[in-house]
Amino acid sequence: MSFQLFGLPVSRGVAIGRAVLVASSRVDVAHYFIDDARVEDEIGRLRVARDAVAGELSLLKRDMPAEAPAELAALLDVHLMLLHDDSLTGATKQWIVERHYNAEWALSAQLEVLARQFDEMEDDYLRERKADLEQVVERLLRALAHGPEAAFGAAPAVGARDFAGEDPLVLVANDIAPADMLHFKGGVFTGFVTDVGGRTSHTAIVARSMDIPAVVGAREASRIIRQDDWVIIDGDSGVVIVNPSPIVLEEYRFRQRQAELERQKLARLRHTPAVTLDGERVELLANIEMPADAPAALDAGALGVGLFRSEFLFMNRGGELPGEDEQFEAYRAAVEAMNGLPVTIRTVDIGADKPLDRMSASELRHEHALNPALGLRAIRWSLSEPGMFRQQLRAILRASAYGKVRLLIPMVAHVSEVKLTMEALARAKQQLTDAGKPFVDVEVGAMIEVPAAVLMLPVFLRYFDFVSIGTNDLIQYTLAIDRADESVAHLYDPWHPAVLGLIASTIQQARALGKHVSVCGEMAGDPAFTETLLGMGLRSFSMHPAQISAIKQRILRSDARRCAGTVPALLAGDGPSAQPGVSLAGLRTGQLTA
Ligand code: PEP
Ligand code: MG
Repeated sequence: MSFQLFGLPVSRGVAIGRAVLVASSRVDVAHYFIDDARVEDEIGRLRVARDAVAGELSLLKRDMPAEAPAELAALLDVHLMLLHDDSLTGATKQWIVERHYNAEWALSAQLEVLARQFDEMEDDYLRERKADLEQVVERLLRALAHGPEAAFGAAPAVGARDFAGEDPLVLVANDIAPADMLHFKGGVFTGFVTDVGGRTSHTAIVARSMDIPAVVGAREASRIIRQDDWVIIDGDSGVVIVNPSPIVLEEYRFRQRQAELERQKLARLRHTPAVTLDGERVELLANIEMPADAPAALDAGALGVGLFRSEFLFMNRGGELPGEDEQFEAYRAAVEAMNGLPVTIRTVDIGADKPLDRMSASELRHEHALNPALGLRAIRWSLSEPGMFRQQLRAILRASAYGKVRLLIPMVAHVSEVKLTMEALARAKQQLTDAGKPFVDVEVGAMIEVPAAVLMLPVFLRYFDFVSIGTNDLIQYTLAIDRADESVAHLYDPWHPAVLGLIASTIQQARALGKHVSVCGEMAGDPAFTETLLGMGLRSFSMHPAQISAIKQRILRSDARRCAGTVPALLAGDGPSAQPGVSLAGLRTGQLTA
């Protein structure tokens, strides 16, 4: 049966492929592809885990006290039976062989399939056996985690980016942690659908940086869509069509071809300077997550990196942080790849929806921090870990000996944070000087992401050389809307006059003091805002490389003076607060139509 789901369109384009479901398990599950050479090893890991669990269950049964109820022994027998049933381990093997999933992923995929079968059983007793199955799978996942070559250790062999089955694949999940998205970067998925998430959640941002169609906040998607269903993801409208009819499929294939032609046309602007009709030159920079993204930035015609989100170097490491030398090598790689163009490296912005790893994602969101977006994140976290912070500062400073580096500090709100940051920087410089390691006196900038920072700008600008406006967070903190929460996504309104007022004020104050000002939030890469930002006086935009050509096209067709004329009405609240095609207000999320 064909049906549709609606969510938030977060990354443009159309993807068509077979669904790969990533189950959310109580046990942390790593998802990655293995290459051909590893298939046998992975099956071996599964076998070892199965034998370990069988041993565990047999021991439990043997050591059961005499007074234990008889049902308990019977239950252990059921678990042993499930463990050896071919529909569990045998079928899991198939996922490894045919899809090249790692053992944990294969197991959770098979659990998903079997759990649905249990749900559909008429007999109450049998239906309730689903819980037993889940317990057995959990034991297996734990055994895999503690066995030889546990998933975290094996994950870097993500080799299997090259793996390509017969059909294109799209990923369907309840949520995908930014750390997991890293695994999928450059991988085989042609689209993403998640149940949760907002337009500027970091999962959405990474999807955009990969230039892959994505829909988030499609509420029930991972429950309703089944493994291997054919899925169309319309990243422009937020519609997800499951098992489409041949006519619908053909229509979307046509749209895919049109989009590709449009992309090729835009790519021709790569080396054209971005100048408005009235002669205003505009700097277009790239946002990157990893040094490996730098070539794409250059390819897209970026004049530098306006935002290197360094926190992605800190993720997926099982809690272990990258040391100074490792970070230095990464920053140096990015700087050298940019061939003398400036690279703005932001100190780590861990916290909120960017935890260090998957396990702490759920801990952070639901258990420990009551409201992680307002918690220990970004510069707050860095200042609470002074050793780690100085290490990062030293690594960034050392990279400055290899090209033009700028240092960017996320989420400053207090003058005390600014002062502590400057002290840490001075100390890091002193340490490098003492150690005889070369560095250059880099420019230091502040991310303007909280309203307090805008109001404190005259003071902050005494300390900082430049500012970069993080509109994703500025909107979140101005309107009190969690950017990762799909249930309030309709209130996340970049056109809100209060938001526009704060952006305009930042640009105006910085320019008045002769300080460089840029926007590196998602608004910079959305053509719907280009003219408004130009009108406010912005001349530096930083975005995902894939968006540079579209923004350039807008700039080439704009008259900056005329744009300025439209700004007062917007700031006065007379403009439309929800511009067509941009605001997410009114969008239906998670609805299902047959
Ligand atoms: C922002 O908040 O706009 C920004 C660029 O930072 P991030 O999205 O990484 O929080
Ligand atoms: Mg931010």
